[in-house]
Amino acid sequence: MRVLLDETQLTQGVHQLADEIDQYYGNSRPLTVIAVMTGSLVLFADLIRRLSMPQRVGVVQASSYRGGTTSGELHVDSQMMIDVTGRDVLLVDDIFDTGKTLDRLRGMMLECGASSIKTAVLLHKQRDHSVELRPDFVAFEIPDEFVVGYGLDYLDMYRNLPYLAILEPAEIEATAS
Ligand code: 5GP
Repeated sequence: MRVLLDETQLTQGVHQLADEIDQYYGNSRPLTVIAVMTGSLVLFADLIRRLSMPQRVGVVQASSYRGGTTSGELHVDSQMMIDVTGRDVLLVDDIFDTGKTLDRLRGMMLECGASSIKTAVLLHKQRDHSVELRPDFVAFEIPDEFVVGYGLDYLDMYRNLPYLAILEPAEIEATAS
């Protein structure tokens, strides 16, 4: 596995991301922070503890990688979501790839009556995106490679790695078999 971002780099990036979000929102108005599960699990835990404003915290489940490394149909399960009516919402996801997930969730939050919606991601893949939306807060720009670790998986594995790594084709094959 080729390490792309080590623990120190990830920590620095998340701290910087939190500082930017703090600067934008200030520290007095409550913010509703929603984790896009499952990939943002590790980022989310680290990020919300660095933010200084009062927070309401919720989760929404979205999945598009159906047992592989290529994007498939997007499934959203909002059963566990908290009320966002009239709230300032920050959606937190692990990676902005095609952009479809955050675009769709942003639309959902608007339909639910959120008064403002911003998006924050750990990683922004350098590729053509299929939507007009761009994330508001980004910790790292990365090349168009399939990455795992720090919450990101392949077939539900590797989320626990403390670093971010590029999964090589041989490892993809070995994990799948
Ligand atoms: P998008 O909707 O932006 O195409 O993709 C968003 C979701 O696809 C992410 O939340 C993530 O779960 C998954 N994804 C996209 N690229 C990668 C990647 O390189 N590695 C992993 N593990 N998941 C990815």
